[in-house]
Amino acid sequence: MGERACYLEFCPACDAPVTMADERCPDCGEPLADSASHPPD
Ligand SMILES: [Zn+2]
Repeated sequence: MGERACYLEFCPACDAPVTMADERCPDCGEPLADSASHPPD
């Protein structure tokens, strides 16, 4: 058994379980907004 990813969030678009390490949903490709650590661009 390898390490199991911790699904801490769910895709807002398709509700698939995603990890905080995912920038995009692995299921539908929806960009995932992580916590408020987005620097103003
Ligand atoms: Zn999705």
